[in-house]
Amino acid sequence: MAVSAHPYAGGRIGLATIHAKERAIAPPFRRLIDAKVVVAPNLNTDILGTFTGEVPRPDALVETSLLKAELVFRTMDVDCAIASEGSYGPIDRLPFNAGGLEIMAFVDRRRGIRLVETMTTHRTNWRLMAFEAGDPSVPQAVKSLGFPDYGVFVIRGSVGGYTVKDLATVDDVVAAVDREARRSEDGKALVVADMRAHRNPTRMKVLRALAWRLARRLATLCPRCGAPGFGHMLSPRGLPCEACGEPTHWIDFEVDGCACCGHAVARPRSDGRRTAPRLSCSACHG
Ligand SMILES: [Zn+2]
Ligand SMILES: [Zn+2]
Repeated sequence: MAVSAHPYAGGRIGLATIHAKERAIAPPFRRLIDAKVVVAPNLNTDILGTFTGEVPRPDALVETSLLKAELVFRTMDVDCAIASEGSYGPIDRLPFNAGGLEIMAFVDRRRGIRLVETMTTHRTNWRLMAFEAGDPSVPQAVKSLGFPDYGVFVIRGSVGGYTVKDLATVDDVVAAVDREARRSEDGKALVVADMRAHRNPTRMKVLRALAWRLARRLATLCPRCGAPGFGHMLSPRGLPCEACGEPTHWIDFEVDGCACCGHAVARPRSDGRRTAPRLSCSACHG
């Protein structure tokens, strides 16, 4: 497919960010569909939520990212918008490992296309540490988070308390820890990795990978109506058991679809499996 054939070629796509995410998102859209990603002016996306160490539910993140993309239309005359949301923190089942979920939403209000791509990652410096005033280990701990290439926040007391951002030097961080620990009821200040994209190179890398995934999807046009974004929609479960043929919880096949006209095509599993192992069957092992 020629780049010039894409409906978005030569057009602008608004981006809701105040954290320089265009550095990660603009290149794939320029390369794959010849569209220019432009940061929407006068946005305060922080009103929709900030990183404080509290991990919201994934469906709430999807909703927030779509709302954030639609904020673009208030300040910019475009039909298409992108926004992203991330959530980092300890993983429930692996308490000593941090992980993250990145969500990128795309809205084409003229064609009625709403797409969300997601990516989970274990590549993160996310960490949260508590200190009392005067703790001599603060400088070393702050350096272990990658500071100053990576930003850190200092939070008074427990998660959700007053947050000090944009600290420039180790001395600034130490001073903020001492001050906020003294002001806190429990005598402690938290130091947590700053997950804002412009202050977190690892997060920026994950956003870049996710932006390529979203751009590749939008580069794929619906074979029936020509709308951008044809791709994976559903993975129905029920692959039959190799022994008894009853449906299992394994994915049976994949469905690609169009967010615009509803055209859908089923395709077999990419690994070629047509049956599930007997061990995964509840009829055989129930
Ligand atoms: Zn079976
Ligand atoms: Zn279509």
